[in-house]
Amino acid sequence: MSQTLQARTKDLLDRLGVPAAAWTGGTLKSFTPVTGEEIAQLKPDTAATTEAAIARAKAAFEAWRVVPAPRRGELVRLLGEELRAAKEDLGALVSIEAGKIPSEGLGEVQEMIDICDFAVGLSRQLYGLTIASERPGHRMMESWHPLGVVGVISAFNFPVAVWSWNTALALVAGNAVIWKPSEKTPLTALASHAILERALKRFGDAPEGLSQVIIGGPDVGEALVSSPDVPLISATGSTRMGRIVGPKVAARFGRSILELGGNNAGIVCPSADLDMALRAIAFGAMGTAGQRCTTLRRLFVHESVYDALVPRLIKAYGSVSVGNPLESGALVGPLVDARAFDAMQKALTEAKAAGGKVHGGERVATGAETAFYARPALVEMPDQTGPVLEETFAPILYVVKYKELSDAIRLHNAVGAGLSSSIFTLDMREAETFLSAAGSDCGIANVNIGTSGAEIGGAFGGEKETGGGRESGSDAWKGYMRRQTNTINYSTQLPLAQGVVFDI
Ligand code: NAD
Repeated sequence: MSQTLQARTKDLLDRLGVPAAAWTGGTLKSFTPVTGEEIAQLKPDTAATTEAAIARAKAAFEAWRVVPAPRRGELVRLLGEELRAAKEDLGALVSIEAGKIPSEGLGEVQEMIDICDFAVGLSRQLYGLTIASERPGHRMMESWHPLGVVGVISAFNFPVAVWSWNTALALVAGNAVIWKPSEKTPLTALASHAILERALKRFGDAPEGLSQVIIGGPDVGEALVSSPDVPLISATGSTRMGRIVGPKVAARFGRSILELGGNNAGIVCPSADLDMALRAIAFGAMGTAGQRCTTLRRLFVHESVYDALVPRLIKAYGSVSVGNPLESGALVGPLVDARAFDAMQKALTEAKAAGGKVHGGERVATGAETAFYARPALVEMPDQTGPVLEETFAPILYVVKYKELSDAIRLHNAVGAGLSSSIFTLDMREAETFLSAAGSDCGIANVNIGTSGAEIGGAFGGEKETGGGRESGSDAWKGYMRRQTNTINYSTQLPLAQGVVFDI
């Protein structure tokens, strides 16, 4: 098995166009969570090589910013084409490196393709405004200009999609990009970059250094975060990381897009379609082994439907297939590493101590000592206390009974994170209350679908400790550009605004 998976990785990297020199002979070891085995040894970047990358990106930006936006869109169109051609291989590599089931590995690449399509359209729609001037013979307008070098820092659990969300928009916006992927998933980053390089070659005259990858851990990310030559840092990862990165970028008056942890919840109301809710909850809570930022972690169930829903959920938790996602057709793959498994066990111990009744959560043996598979855990809690208030990046769903919707919404909002949320109801008043100003305080609020699996057309991100950033669709592109207000005087007079008189 071991040999086979290593051989498969090599085969995929060859086919995706990543030279062996890029992933062999270095000191940064890369492991697959599927078996826990080592699959690559990369050469990490240093502060000096990162500085050099930033200098190259800065020069590339100066050339790229004056390329017309629709022409910039052509590069992203080509990237979308190359991603389509490489979808099977890149999806398979995501499954090996991040431990995702095949359809989720492929789904992640589909998301990359979708954002390219979106960005190509956007390249002809970077609209500003015209504004009514208070002065005669004057015209006001708003222009959007490229920003500079964009630093992208990404997490292990969406090892390629997050880069594409940022890069597709940043490139059509006229920026250069430097990507520091998670040190746990560098191979899919090198592969994505090889795919972009093919698009760049076909494009022809893009400046050298327009898009680069730097490899390493937080220290390498730090060099990017601290550089005054990187006006925007888009950082995806834990709230712990955001607490360090956010203030550092702010201290140099840089801009940041922070996409941090979630502690997402759902509310199941008396009128809910329980069959539909069950499926949505199962995917939202157990999919990707609970390792999505949008994973459903808390569930508030109305007392009138608790006994009709929760025993069925417990049954689904007991029977869902857990195992090697590449071989067994399992729906729940591995946790990323031993630390993730330990964090899960710690949270379950704390939940028990707080009065929780734990179903599942035990380690599932697969024969691979250094791979960590766990049965997803459903925990019936008497109240929202202890570990329920924090994100544990593992498949744990805490279930709490409620009587009044107002109580459920209050509990829903009473955590630090504010990413995704959902309500299951057929009652229009309940649904609209949840979506109203007095309802969910999250960046994403859904009705009759789960918390995970967002489409790229909408702006993605969350409030509070999730960091406030928005990426992907809607007008998220504005985060990658600078806004300029222009006032043009085509008259023969010089009237001052607000009627000020200053005659000399
Ligand atoms: P992590 O915070 O450990 O690492 C994320 C990235 O930040 C990595 O590339 C890491 O090297 C880098 N990093 C860490 N400390 C840094 C520092 N001080 N300076 C610069 N870079 C630093 O997160 P993870 O374990 O890879 O991912 C899981 C977390 O990410 C979860 O909390 C999850 O909710 C969150 N996440 C959020 C979103 C979102 O869109 N909101 C998406 C995916 C994951």
